Amino acid sequence: AKEINQNNYSTRSRLIKCVQGQTATPVQLLHVEGQSGITYNENVVRNLFLDPQLKDRQVVVISIVGAFRKGKSFLMNYMLRYLYANYPTTKSKTLINPDCWLGDENEPLTGFTWRSGVERVTKGLILWGDVFLYDPPKGEKLAIYIMDTQGLFDHHATASDNSNIFSLSTLISSVQIMNIFNILQENQLQYLQFATEFARYASSDSETSPFQNLLILIRDWNSVDEYKYGLRGGNAYLNTFLEIQDFQSPELQSVRRYLRSSFDKIDCFLMPHPGKKVATDKTYDGRWKDIDSDFVDLMSEFFEYLFKKMKPKTINNAPIKPDELLIFINSYVESFKN
Ligand code: GDP
Ligand code: MG
Repeated sequence: AKEINQNNYSTRSRLIKCVQGQTATPVQLLHVEGQSGITYNENVVRNLFLDPQLKDRQVVVISIVGAFRKGKSFLMNYMLRYLYANYPTTKSKTLINPDCWLGDENEPLTGFTWRSGVERVTKGLILWGDVFLYDPPKGEKLAIYIMDTQGLFDHHATASDNSNIFSLSTLISSVQIMNIFNILQENQLQYLQFATEFARYASSDSETSPFQNLLILIRDWNSVDEYKYGLRGGNAYLNTFLEIQDFQSPELQSVRRYLRSSFDKIDCFLMPHPGKKVATDKTYDGRWKDIDSDFVDLMSEFFEYLFKKMKPKTINNAPIKPDELLIFINSYVESFKN
């Protein structure tokens, strides 16, 4: 198995300086490639789950999936800036002012490898190498994990790699962000049903609604006259799309019923276009000075919504702890190999 060697030059050069001067790297949780090609190096991720500071915490895992080159890692890297400004990690307790979470407007964007990154990232599930800590005023303490995925709908990936990546990340996460361009399409719903069925099969969860929060994030939304950017416009759009109507074929109706019953909650959020530079300039380094201000505002709104009411990951209705999640990951990997 190809594993991340901490002494590699490429790994070291990826060490990033975060907003508060912290360093962390992305860590490959699972490689998903080819027939029975799910490889997992538990040693690489062990300390992310077994750190004694995490012992009494419940887990939150935010994941993103979707087609290649659609700004997933770009958005996740801004999410990391937001998190570093708002939450301590197991390695650092100092925070900067959350009001300036965006950091310097000219700071190049680092974190998960995104388009401007030079090296190839292997297909699979990638965790951020810092765990964020949140102690809510009421309720249990939380440990927040951030997960990026690579390879879904990628030309080089086979159909089974695609659904493996979707299914495994849905099983592991408490919030699955499905990153989509422009509009929702019928075939995306069908894909979602297919991959969800697959995941349900592997899950040990016997409840009727085995998955938690599905968040459909639509990028470059351009029908803003009809539905406004953000969560309210998104949910209005989604409800219209998911509505069951007489003229729909039984197949179209059943995919809608299936999805509603598979997730506790499905939300939709509409993002504006980020501007020409972000979308087309090959030399663009991710600095926010060059992002349309609408996009920056909506990104802020998105993160606030996402992290305001965090719920822990549950399996069979019980919240789980980091060490338990590691055990579940092990068992998912085993069941996907068969
Ligand atoms: P990923 O493969 O989905 O992770 O995509 P990346 O995060 O690597 O970004 C791919 C390209 O899309 C980069 O050139 C980004 O600058 C650009 N990009 C980022 N966000 C957006 C967006 O919301 N809309 C458009 N059109 N491009 C974006
Ligand atoms: Mg990416």
